[in-house]
This record gives sequence, structure tokens and C-alpha cells, in this order.
Amino acid sequence: MDLALALRWSGCRVLASRPRQGKAASRRFTGALAAKSANEPNNCYDVVLVGGGFAGLAAVGRLAKQRVHGRKLRLLLIEQGRGLGGRVCTRRRETTEGPLAFDHGCQYFTAKTSQPHFSDACRMWQDAGVAGAWHAAVGKLSLQGIGMEDAIFEPFDQSKVPLVGIPSMSAIGKHIIREAQDGQNDVDVLTSSKASDAAWDDASHLWTLQVNSEPVKTSVLAVTTSARSCVRMLGDACPSGCEASKVKSNVCWALLVASFKPLTCQPDWDAALVDGSSCFAWVSRNTSKPSRPKPPAPECFVLHTCPEWSNPRAELSKDEVRKLLLMEFCRQFGCQNEAVVYAEAFRWNNAFPLNPLQLPKKCIVEPERKLVAGGDWASGDRVGDAFESGVAVAVAVLTLLNA
Ligand SMILES: Cc1cc2nc3c(=O)[nH]c(=O)nc-3n(C[C@H](O)[C@H](O)[C@H](O)COP(=O)(O)OP(=O)(O)OC[C@H]3O[C@@H](n4cnc5c(N)ncnc54)[C@H](O)[C@@H]3O)c2cc1C
Repeated sequence: MDLALALRWSGCRVLASRPRQGKAASRRFTGALAAKSANEPNNCYDVVLVGGGFAGLAAVGRLAKQRVHGRKLRLLLIEQGRGLGGRVCTRRRETTEGPLAFDHGCQYFTAKTSQPHFSDACRMWQDAGVAGAWHAAVGKLSLQGIGMEDAIFEPFDQSKVPLVGIPSMSAIGKHIIREAQDGQNDVDVLTSSKASDAAWDDASHLWTLQVNSEPVKTSVLAVTTSARSCVRMLGDACPSGCEASKVKSNVCWALLVASFKPLTCQPDWDAALVDGSSCFAWVSRNTSKPSRPKPPAPECFVLHTCPEWSNPRAELSKDEVRKLLLMEFCRQFGCQNEAVVYAEAFRWNNAFPLNPLQLPKKCIVEPERKLVAGGDWASGDRVGDAFESGVAVAVAVLTLLNA
């Protein structure tokens, strides 16, 4: 059996048994977690959280600060992606023309007055230097024909300045975990690891999950994935008629494109909802965000497709979609094909919940089986909704542990 290594990774502890071997290899673990997941209840986690997006991060950040009955909690956050942040993330690429950065999911966030925890967190992230204002011209872009010459841009009235992660969207997730690991409790983080087959045992009152084919046990299970992943992960343990199974979501394709020449018509916008395009719903000049690579590095754009275009093309390959969308970008936005130094298509399978549950409690709680579930879908469809739901998950978990 391999001995697990406790790695320091960007200031946060990640458990892994061996270094990643190639892009697709997942980080398997055995030693440390296997020891903790032995049969005695004292040797398992108090709380396992599945899903390291903003809901999971908000939950783990809150739980890291609380002891229960004066006792240290043992927490484990499991994330299937390589990094934390979920749909709030940045893709970096190196090219011979210079470094590139694309925020290919969430574009920016603002806190509503009805989101007190998220408002406080945004202020703290700004103070810590991991979030900052994006003084951007954001509005509606009406494409009138081909090549941008006649496009009309109408800026939105923005009561709040958009915020972004500094120097990348991923910085906020790393910051939250650093703080959590400096807190009262033991916080383990496992990335590149998929949790599946959750099963509740009535006799021991414990959950067992399969994580990279290894069993992990926990007293409380908190699921902070998308609604669809939550239902899939719980499998047979998902109660019939479970509310999460009612949430529908859209597919969204993102085009990440970098050009070393400006568009033929230099835009007066930084980001816009696109009107009059057969495929694009959103365009953003990623380069205009603070702390992103600036010229002479190539200019980076992120485009999102509309559901009418994405949903019927959900099964196309990334390469097919890249070719189709790049051709449309060059045609509709007046970009010279030969100036493109990089293009990539990325598919968001559960981009936005179409019918979020808007639960008053912002999460689902099943006290008998010590199961809590949340995410944007439980309360809305934005980052702030995910964060508030994550805080509600933490509060519910603490109530279960204190009972
Ligand atoms: C293209 C796009 C643009 C957006 N733009 C904006 C915007 O501008 N402003 C805004 O406020 N919001 C925006 N959003 C919405 C916002 O990103 C989401 O509402 C929010 O990030 C959701 O957070 P979450 O934690 O609920 O879910 P997620 O961020 O999806 O996190 C869930 C995590 O669970 C992980 N996971 C799933 N299954 C498993 C498993 N079995 N084991 C381990 N891990 C698992 C996933 O990998 C993921 O990291 C956008 C979303 C998309 C897709």
C-alpha cells in the first residue's frame, strides 16, 4: 500500500499518494485516509463535503472556525477538479506569444443586500487582495451585421462595481482554504478526486463514500455539487422525489480565444450580453480585468453560447465546437483568423440551474441520515446564491453535530 503524502499546495494541504502522471491521471490516496476510514467511528471524519465550488468553500470556511462540544472537528473537502472554485475559475496557458488567462466560467460577481455573508466575504477578500474591482464597460452589444462596424453598445447602469478574483478567479478558493486550514479544526482537501456511491449505514450511523475506489467514512455528509451531480453521487441513497432531482440545467459552451491583433473595429466595451448573434450570448475581454496578462501579451476573449445553440450541440466534440465557434467569432467580431494564437472550446454541463429551488433555508437537510445538500440550485443561480447556500449548509451541519 502506498503511503499518502501530505503535500503543501499553494499553501493548502492536499492529500495524495503519488504525483499526477499525465493529464488525466487522478490523485489516488490510500495511507492517511485509509487509516482514518477504518471501521471504528472515532477514526472517520466528522464531516465530508463533496464539491469545492463556492458553496463547498463557504461551508468549509465556516465549519473550520467552530468546535463542537469543545472538540476539534475532522473535515474533508473532496473536489473532482484539479483546483478549487468550481465554476469560478481561470484557465492559464503559455504560448510563444506570451501568457494567456481566461475566466471561462463565472465572469464577475456582486453581492446583493439580501446576501449578508457573501457581502462580508467580498469585503474580506478585497482587504486580503484576492478580489478587486473590475472597472469595466459592461452592457448590451447589438450585432447589426458582420464584423462589428455597425454594432451598437449600450452600457448598463451599474449600481455596484463588478468584482473579480485577483490575480485570477482561482485565487479566492485558495485563500478560503488557507484560512480554513489556519482555523480551529483539521481540514483535509482532496482534489482530482471524485466521490461516488454514498451509502448510509443504519447500524453504525455512518456514511461511506467511494473516493477513487477507496472507502471514506463520515458522520455527516454535506453535498455541495450541482443538483444533477448531487443526485448522481447519492445514487440509491437519494430519496425518491428528492427536490434536487427536480432542478434542470443548461449546457453552455465557452470559446476561449486569444489574438495578437486588435479586432478590426476597436471595441468600446469590456463585456457584453450579445444580441443578434446566432450562437453567442456573452463576450468579454478578459485582458481588461485587473492583474490579467496585458499587451504585448495577446488579447484574451471569453465567449459563452446561448442555450438554443448549446443544448442541441452538447454532444459535439470540443474540437468540432472550437472550429465552429472560432469561425463565427472571426466573422461576427471582425477578428483576423491569422491573428488568432490560441482557441479552445470548453463545455459547462450544468451551467445555470433553470429552476432553482429558492428554498427559504437555502439547503436541504435530512436529519435522520445526517445529510445536507446545497449549492446555487438550492437558492438561486449566481455565485452569491451558492455562497449563501454554503453558509446555510455549515449551519445545518453544526446543528446536526451539536444535537
Ligand atoms: C458560463 C458561466 C458563467 C457564469 N457567470 C456568472 C457571473 O458572471 N456571475 C455570477 O454570479 N455567477 C455566474 N455563473 C454562475 C456561478 O458560477 C455559479 O452559480 C456558482 O459558481 C455555483 O457554485 P456552486 O458551488 O453551487 O457549484 P459549482 O461551482 O459547480 O461547484 C460544484 C463542484 O462540485 C464538484 N463535483 C461535482 N461532482 C463531484 C463529485 N462526485 N465528487 C467530487 N466533486 C464533485 C465540481 O467539480 C464543482 O467544482 C456562471 C456560470 C457559468 C457556467
